[in-house]
Amino acid sequence: MTPNLLSSTLESQQNWLITTHKGPDGDAVGSVVAWAAYAKRCGKDHLILFPDQPAAYLCPFLEGYNWEVFTTDKDYKGDLLFALDYNSSSRLGEEMSVWFDSQTLIKVMFDHHPNPADFVQIPVSIPTSCSTTEVIYRVLEDLGQRDQIDIHVAKGLYLGLLTDTGSFRFPSVSAQTHRMAAHLLDLGLEHHLIHEAIYDVNSVTRLQLRGYAIAEKLQLFPNYRIGIMSLSKDDLKRFDYQKGDTEGLVNVILSIEGYDLGVFLMETEDGVKLSFRSKGQRFVNTFAQAHFNGGGHQYAAGGFLAADLKTTLAKLESLLVEM
Ligand code: 5GP
Ligand code: MN
Repeated sequence: MTPNLLSSTLESQQNWLITTHKGPDGDAVGSVVAWAAYAKRCGKDHLILFPDQPAAYLCPFLEGYNWEVFTTDKDYKGDLLFALDYNSSSRLGEEMSVWFDSQTLIKVMFDHHPNPADFVQIPVSIPTSCSTTEVIYRVLEDLGQRDQIDIHVAKGLYLGLLTDTGSFRFPSVSAQTHRMAAHLLDLGLEHHLIHEAIYDVNSVTRLQLRGYAIAEKLQLFPNYRIGIMSLSKDDLKRFDYQKGDTEGLVNVILSIEGYDLGVFLMETEDGVKLSFRSKGQRFVNTFAQAHFNGGGHQYAAGGFLAADLKTTLAKLESLLVEM
C-alpha cells in the first residue's frame, strides 16, 4: 500500500460507497461498520451496499448507519468505492459485480484473502491477517489515524476479529491480534456483549436444525479423515431455516477427534453452496476453486455448484482421494 495515495484519496472524496461480499459474515459486517464509523468520524457521507440481506443476528450492528441491499433499479452516487473482505468482484454475485466493474470511480480494496484479482486502483491485501478488520486496523495505524478509532469503529473491528478467528483460536491469530483486541478493550468496548450477540442468539428451531444435521446428516469417511454434512431444501424447511442458522456448523466436523477436513453442503433454489474447513497440512481453497467454482483461504473456503444435492454429493464423493 502507498499510504500517501490512500490518505489523499480519502481526504479529497466526500461520498463513500462501502461494499462487501454476498452472504455477509461477521467479518464482512464488522468491516463495513468499522469503515462507516470511521467515515462518520471524518465527516464523510457513507452508504453501505450489500449484495444480499445480512443475517438477522448481524443487523443490530448496522443500527445508526446508512445501509441498503443492492438493486439494479437504483443509481448509486458516490466518489469512492470500497471493496471490503473480498478479493474479486465475482464475490458480489452476478448483478452487483456487473455494476461494480462498470463504475468509473476510484476503487479501494481492504482484504485478507490470498491471490486478489486486479479489480481496484488501490488494493490493500494482507493475506496473513486473521480478518479484514485487522487489515483495516493496520491501515488506520499506517495512515496515522489510530487516535480516530473510537468505540463505534472498535465495535466493528472487534466483530470481524471475533468471528473470523473462531473466537481467537485459529493459527492466523497473532500477538498483534491480541494487542489490537487489548486496544479496543481499552477504549471501553464491552466484548462480552458482542460475544453474546453472535453466539447466544439461538432459536429453538435453529438448535434443532443443528442437532439434526449432526445426528442424521453427517457422513464420516475415517480412512480419509473427512466428514461431509449436508442439508436439503426439505430439511431446511422442516426446521424453519433462517439465514445464518447453519453458520459455523462445518467447524463441528473438525472438532471430531481424528478428522481434519470438513465439508458442509446446503441446497438452495439455484444449486448447492459448499463450505470447506481443514487444519494441519490439508488446504481446501485450491480444491474449492478447481471443482466447485469457489476459493477462499487455505483452511476455510467455499464454493457453489448449480446442481441438486444428490449430484453434488456424488461429485464430492468421487473426489475423496484428491481431497
Ligand atoms: P464460508 O464457508 O464461510 O461461506 O466461506 C469460507 C471462506 O471461503 C470465506 O473466506 C469466503 O471468502 C470464501 N468463499 C466462500 N464462498 C466462496 C466462493 O464462492 N468463491 C470464493 N472465491 N470464495 C468463497
Ligand atoms: Mn474475512
